[in-house]
Amino acid sequence: MPVSDFEPVIGLEVHAQLLTKTKIFCGCSTAFGAPPNSQVCPTCLGLPGALPALNRAAVEMAVRAGKAFGCRIATRSIWARKNYFYPDLPKGYQISQYELPICAGGAVPVPGLGKIGLERIHLEEDAGKNVHAEHGSLVDLNRSGVPLIEIVGKPELRSAEAASEYLKALRLALIYLGVNDGNLEEGSFRCDANVSVRPRGTAKFGTRVELKNINSFRFVRQAIEYEIERQVEAIEKGEKIRQETRLFDHAAGVTRAMRSKEEANDYRYFPEPDLPPLTVSQDLIDGVRVPKLPHEVLDELTHAGVSPADARTLTDNVDLLRIYRDSSVPGSRAAQAVVNEVARVLKESAVHASFSPGSIAEVFALQDAGTISSTVAKEVLGESLRTGKAARQIVQEKGLAQVSDSGALEAVVDAVLARNPGEVEKYKGGKKNLLGFFVGQAMKDLKGKGNPGALNALFKQKLGD
Ligand code: ADP
Ligand code: MG
Ligand code: ZN
Repeated sequence: MPVSDFEPVIGLEVHAQLLTKTKIFCGCSTAFGAPPNSQVCPTCLGLPGALPALNRAAVEMAVRAGKAFGCRIATRSIWARKNYFYPDLPKGYQISQYELPICAGGAVPVPGLGKIGLERIHLEEDAGKNVHAEHGSLVDLNRSGVPLIEIVGKPELRSAEAASEYLKALRLALIYLGVNDGNLEEGSFRCDANVSVRPRGTAKFGTRVELKNINSFRFVRQAIEYEIERQVEAIEKGEKIRQETRLFDHAAGVTRAMRSKEEANDYRYFPEPDLPPLTVSQDLIDGVRVPKLPHEVLDELTHAGVSPADARTLTDNVDLLRIYRDSSVPGSRAAQAVVNEVARVLKESAVHASFSPGSIAEVFALQDAGTISSTVAKEVLGESLRTGKAARQIVQEKGLAQVSDSGALEAVVDAVLARNPGEVEKYKGGKKNLLGFFVGQAMKDLKGKGNPGALNALFKQKLGD
């Protein structure tokens, strides 16, 4: 059977670092990039006798994600010890949730795919990090105890492309919720992909393989695509798929067996004796505010007249969206300015710290009043973004205001006509399209700052039209 006779089944597990200032069971900082082992204490070092104390902010963030995705929020959930040995895990176990997680069910809205169901969202602590250097391997425990939510998706994805769309939508939603920074490179948003294949039309799932270590959307697609083909080929050869964990080697573009998949019972889960059950009051749940999700913002923008393409660009980029919103001139005009001019300057990372989005409205006002032309308007906005100066100030300092004063324009118009007697003759003889030539000449004299409408009218008047 060719690959197309098989249907891939994919379920993703995402670990997202919560944006709390301190760790989940101690007061150590969660800031990224500090010198190794500078943000540690007896609790997150796993020293004997140190006790965990829960960070309320982590619970609130998990509840916010749960509410946003329509999960059932458990008013009572249980902390569990997940036991395993690894050098970056000094306690020998991770505090997680197992049988009774804080959130169950729910779904993530994915543009073009509808809703992808969730099994659960649970809270857990992160492990440390092994740093492999030339002279050996070292352990950095700054990350030990950083709060995570693990978002376990149902096996409802049917292609590598769909998996990557789901991940993008989930990442963006978590950023909107303010619970995660979406930084794949720094490892604050990590994904494991479970992949199996089954003959099309059959109901029973095939044996799944878990792919680890995928830190970009492109790698997610590549790893899953490779894995689908590998599994189909193996089945064609009459081999059995082994349930195992595989690593994606992005340099080689292949997945490699890492270990046979451990079963849940290998972890010897048991309730964490150092923490009472997590009780979440209805008051806490009700008090957690859920901001609009990306798909809702997309609807809101298109309703405000923003083109679908611009609306998509704005919702996909929270920095652009913030500037659009703060410009306080909702609609397609501001959206266009933000998607074009602002995006360009933002890409060069040249937006000045004191740039005020109010400048956008100011530029529009200057343009509508005829003070500046549309071309100059773009230039002024760019300058305002780079320097942080107000639009009006830029126009003044650079002398960009259009000349609309009729006396000044008239002098230029007269000079142009006097310089070009031949063209005047032809115009009067019926070559009316010479009007553009005259206006162009005047614009040149005025260094591009003449008001084109006023110049048109003046020339027509002088030429007796
Ligand atoms: P484990 O801890 O063993 O990884 P989890 O319950 O945490 O188990 O995660 C299971 C993940 O695997 C879920 O995302 C689920 O959607 C996915 N999954 C389960 N069965 C299959 C399958 N047959 N094919 C693909 N994905 C699957
Ligand atoms: Mg898992
Ligand atoms: Zn600590």
